[in-house]
Amino acid sequence: MHIKQGIQVSPGVAIAQAVVVDAEDVRIPRHTISASKIPSEHGRLEAAIHQSLADIDQLREQASATLGPELAKIFDFHAGMLRDPHLTGQIQKLIESEKVTAEYAVYVVLRRQAMMIRNLDNRYFRQRVKDVWDIERRILGHLIGHTRAELGHLQRDAVVIAHDLTPSQTASLDKSKIKALATDAGGSTSHTAILAHALGIPAVVGLEDVTGAVNTGDTVIIDGNRGTVIVRPDAAQLMTYRKTVRRIADHETTLDGFGQLPAVTKDGTEINIQANIEFPSEISAALEKGATGIGLYRTEFLYLASDSEPSEDQQYEAYMEAVVKLAGRPLTIRTLDLGADKLASDDADLDHIERNPFLGCRSIRLCLQNLPLFKTQLRAILRASTSGPIRVMFPLISNMMELRQAKMIMNDVMEDLHDEGIAYADDLPIGIMVEVPSTAIQIKIYADEVDFLSVGTNDLIQYTLAVDRGNERVASLYSAAHPSVIQLIKDVLRTANRTQTDISLCGEMAGEPEYVILLLGLGYRSLSMTPPAIPEVKKIIRSVSLTQCRRVARRASNFESDREVFNYLRSEARKVVPEVFEGLSVD
Ligand code: PEP
Ligand code: MG
Repeated sequence: MHIKQGIQVSPGVAIAQAVVVDAEDVRIPRHTISASKIPSEHGRLEAAIHQSLADIDQLREQASATLGPELAKIFDFHAGMLRDPHLTGQIQKLIESEKVTAEYAVYVVLRRQAMMIRNLDNRYFRQRVKDVWDIERRILGHLIGHTRAELGHLQRDAVVIAHDLTPSQTASLDKSKIKALATDAGGSTSHTAILAHALGIPAVVGLEDVTGAVNTGDTVIIDGNRGTVIVRPDAAQLMTYRKTVRRIADHETTLDGFGQLPAVTKDGTEINIQANIEFPSEISAALEKGATGIGLYRTEFLYLASDSEPSEDQQYEAYMEAVVKLAGRPLTIRTLDLGADKLASDDADLDHIERNPFLGCRSIRLCLQNLPLFKTQLRAILRASTSGPIRVMFPLISNMMELRQAKMIMNDVMEDLHDEGIAYADDLPIGIMVEVPSTAIQIKIYADEVDFLSVGTNDLIQYTLAVDRGNERVASLYSAAHPSVIQLIKDVLRTANRTQTDISLCGEMAGEPEYVILLLGLGYRSLSMTPPAIPEVKKIIRSVSLTQCRRVARRASNFESDREVFNYLRSEARKVVPEVFEGLSVD
């Protein structure tokens, strides 16, 4: 048995056999072998290379027939590497000298090769790094199986263990079979974590080397409430956790009753509770959980989930599906927030990699530098705007020029539609995400130029505290309870109220039980969150009075460190709804 501690990002507990995903960055564990096994490892290596060459011959033929002989030549590089006696010699030598498995030797030698190519001056050769990864995956696929492909065809329940998953990989997991996931990388508000939560899949991230500790087929317990992963549990652990799984299921059934009740405090103030979604298919479940509308529709996931750029019509259809499902309820469509960790797999090539992607050309910046992309989306939104109460929201606004430019482009698109005789709502409300400190500090000038504001604490925290939201090595520094973050969200709320600007908060903290009382006490009356969190948040709201919330918010503002604030908020929340916290502990 082996227990590993990571960061809990999506609640729930699951017990199942593991599937270790062969992601690009996966670490193949270093398994040693006895000297007598060396010849059989050589044999396995030879067979895997032989099969890989056969694959490549077949691919070359197919490519030649469909794309022409010139393009098929890319496979010559692959075949050339696989036939290179120097390369295979290095792998064989490593198996012998270190007494390691063939997969480990392939992994080490090809990674070394990739690093060497990446450091070359020649741009043409540098681009061959992806080919080296491709070759590595092909040989490893023959040695240890194509687990990525298998994920789509699982015969029974499983938990996924990966170095990291991209948001699009997470979005495509088969929820009926995949019961939980655990990754080496990631932080509490990385987009993979957010998606796992939205899908209702328990998840633990930031485990650093869980891929090295688990083999496909091992029994694993993933405890998304406490952030622990138990590899090959003993009988006693299994029994305890089986009881916990049953208790959590009971707790969820009780909570679900709260979803359809109004979110009204004990002293009668109604709080608007909306949902964050990535796909329109999530809307029915969000309404069942008790959402009154969609406060954040992350439209970039349509891009991340498809192989090619979605057309205007495909985007229009997605927005119409959302409008129809919402049947008159509000829908806030956020324009594309691509870039940083949200990259289509095709974009993940070396030419696009920025030194500081979260500070680089992401989100509205990327749209403003790529007008056809931006205009296509705006046309689709505007066309759908006559069918329901749609609002449009620009992400990552960090200076006034960006907002004005975005609005100008919106006006251009409206004019084009007008000229083409296509209907749209010309009074469509326009808002911004407040997720950059400069914008939060200057919020007054923005409030004068928009119809609404939505505070995105996931990014606001990372930019205020200089902590990458997806980096497990600094995850302990990332905290919504940091006094500077609380100060910012308090100031933004006050200015919004003073200028009578509609405001809500849609970062992950809106759905975390520890922060609900604080947010109400600071004055927030509209929250948008991941759908599974709604019943619990409603329960908390219905158990408190605003007087009590204001007292908690005042006291929380007096502490100096995030730890003190967090411990205080947790103890206050626990007093109000002890069962929310008890329901999550292990017997
Ligand atoms: C945020 O930054 O708080 C937010 C809601 O947007 P995202 O998580 O998609 O960056
Ligand atoms: Mg954001």
